[in-house]
Amino acid sequence: MKTPTILATMGCLPDTYGIVNIPPYRASTILFPTFKEFEQAESGQRQYSYGRYGTPSTHALETTIATLEDADHAIVTSSGLAAIVVALMAFLKSGDHLLMVDSVYGPARRFCEKELRKFGVEITYYEPLIGGDIASLIKENTKVVYLESPGSLTFEVQDIPAIVKATRAKNPAITLMIDNTWATPLYFKPFDHGIDVSIHAVTKYMSGHSDLVMGAVNCKKKHYAPLQQTYLSLGSTPGGDNCYLALRGLRTMGLRLKQQWENAMQVAQWLKTRPEVEEVLYPALPGAPGHELWKRDFTGASSLFAFAMKPASQKALAAMLDDLEYFGMGYSWGGFESLITPFDPKKSRTAGKWPYSGPGVRLHIGLEDPDDLIKDLEAGFKRLSS
Ligand SMILES: *Cc1c(COP(=O)(O)O)cnc(C)c1O
Repeated sequence: MKTPTILATMGCLPDTYGIVNIPPYRASTILFPTFKEFEQAESGQRQYSYGRYGTPSTHALETTIATLEDADHAIVTSSGLAAIVVALMAFLKSGDHLLMVDSVYGPARRFCEKELRKFGVEITYYEPLIGGDIASLIKENTKVVYLESPGSLTFEVQDIPAIVKATRAKNPAITLMIDNTWATPLYFKPFDHGIDVSIHAVTKYMSGHSDLVMGAVNCKKKHYAPLQQTYLSLGSTPGGDNCYLALRGLRTMGLRLKQQWENAMQVAQWLKTRPEVEEVLYPALPGAPGHELWKRDFTGASSLFAFAMKPASQKALAAMLDDLEYFGMGYSWGGFESLITPFDPKKSRTAGKWPYSGPGVRLHIGLEDPDDLIKDLEAGFKRLSS
């Protein structure tokens, strides 16, 4: 099945009434008609036994996401962060060493610092552009190498094949994980590149409408047992209504992404011509940092990118941001609407240095007309300079 067909057809369970979309299953209790079936549930032999262990709603979404990414299994979680937590906890224990990319999603880093360390996991943050030199950081007790490419704030494109090759050569038993949220299953195929576990914030493009929080972890057969065990232990199953909404979002994801990529290219190209801008950090833009690696490994781009500004005062930055008409200032991305957030990566990075002197600004480009978005930013730059 080709991707558009998966998006249009998967996850519709046959229904006696012929209804196209499966309704949201809301469940805690699931009744067992007989003692025998109760016993089957107790020994884990029943597909549905309790709401927290999954329902037809979670199942429909999981099969669709797994198929999209050529995985054997997907599990869906109550948030993208919960997906990261399940994946890391499934493959790490006390005394193990984790190699974590320095550009990782901020709250994932907080989980590593505040929780994983508490359980005696050793963590080294590595420079995202390290490539094959990752080998020099791998220790006897290294169990997980974690990637996020491009970094969802600073947009470094990692040399994934080089990292996978060097890691495998050093120790084939290490689990390689990637946060694939930016590319979505449509534009990067982790399992074709030798990655073992792929993580998504379903919150973003999959749901696509900024109205839910959810995550997913994808893997091949070999890695399913530990993931499933930790998933069942942590109890972060999403509710049926959110699964319903996520499936509904997936139907149009292909179209939305294509249009948003095109819109983002227009805005990025315009930004490149602006004197206020030091560098546009959009891997899909020719000449941008990471463009060559993006072209080699990815088949498309989503519409989240950043730019480094020339140095500007906080006051000037506020003047620019406060009166934007179409860009909302808020966290998250992947919805239909455009967003803007300023950031200062110096606060969180330890392995490398943000090479620009001015502030960073992250844009999520939505489905508005790019001409309107450009006009909005142009007026913002005018306020910045005055
Ligand atoms: C948003 C995000 C997450 C976390 O998703 P939530 O659903 O907000 O918990 C994880 N990774 C990346 C790259 C994200 O942008």
